[in-house]
Amino acid sequence: MKKLAALALFFFVISIQAQTKKASTSPLPRVIILATGGTIAGSGASSTEAAYTAGKIPIENLLNAVPEIHQIAQIKGEQIAQIGSQDMNIATWLKLSQRINELFEKDEVDAVVLTHGTDTLEETAYFLSLTIASDKPVVLVGAMRPATAMSQDGNRNLLDAVMVAADQKSIGHGVVVAMNESVYAARDVTKTNTTNMATFQSRNFGPIGLIFDGKVNYYYKSIRNSAQKFDVSQRKTLPKVAIVYGYADATSSAIEAAIKDGAQGIVYAGMGNGNYNEAVGKALITASKNNILICRSARAGAGQVTLFNEVDDAALGFVVADDLNPQKARILLMLALTKTNDKKKIQDYFLKY
Ligand code: GLU
Repeated sequence: MKKLAALALFFFVISIQAQTKKASTSPLPRVIILATGGTIAGSGASSTEAAYTAGKIPIENLLNAVPEIHQIAQIKGEQIAQIGSQDMNIATWLKLSQRINELFEKDEVDAVVLTHGTDTLEETAYFLSLTIASDKPVVLVGAMRPATAMSQDGNRNLLDAVMVAADQKSIGHGVVVAMNESVYAARDVTKTNTTNMATFQSRNFGPIGLIFDGKVNYYYKSIRNSAQKFDVSQRKTLPKVAIVYGYADATSSAIEAAIKDGAQGIVYAGMGNGNYNEAVGKALITASKNNILICRSARAGAGQVTLFNEVDDAALGFVVADDLNPQKARILLMLALTKTNDKKKIQDYFLKY
């Protein structure tokens, strides 16, 4: 009996040793950091000045500034652009989407971290979430204070983003944004404050995960934030869609200008539940009759734009943006127009994607 117990103990110790060995030798996840610029790569004249130039610091310096990332993952870096994200454009979105899909298809990486300026970060995140064909983690990250500033947030945000990307729990969440110790679904997150570090929020639903001390915990999963909806692998451009802002006593001039500029679609950032005044309404109805796709969204910043509230959308041929903000509704409409002009189908995308 004693012999049997000793034998069991021996095998138990051996198996623990084998497991420990396996854990310590299993390779770290392969994470690529794609850099596009922004404040996270911003350089100022001194540590206390707010004025700086976005996107100046190259990827190598960013990686060297946070050596801890090499303990979490096997890191590679690639500079895709070096711009302030106010200069982000469709060509760079397509390049990013095509490159990320290629990296996943060839199984070159397990996850992607994308460093980005904060101004249009939410737009890039949503564009990628609609066009990436993998459930591997894609994590966007930025900073509100330049790399040269006192108490800068970029290094911590980058470390957290790499940790989120490397964490198995992030698989299947689609494209996310990791900023200020929170993780947000690409579809829902928006920049809410011009300068504050807690600028990123998901006003309708909150963060899906929280980060503390190098760990992420997830609490929710967006059912609309995963699986590729549009294949842009062959595209060089997208249909033109403009955003027109609603306000008291607005005229039709911005709508007419957008049409003159060749817009195939207009996202109207309406008052309240996507409402417009008489002059704007007339111009939108005429545009819709001329096969320009009109999407009613809201300038309010939260909530949904609902069908048939004060507006008979079906009769007028309009679609509604649901809870997408105007800049995200524009992205979905551009992509939708690559597939169809059918208003019912496009409305369906807005209610499902
Ligand atoms: N406007 C610049 C950008 O969006 C800097 C702002 C930032 O990154 O926070 O890239």
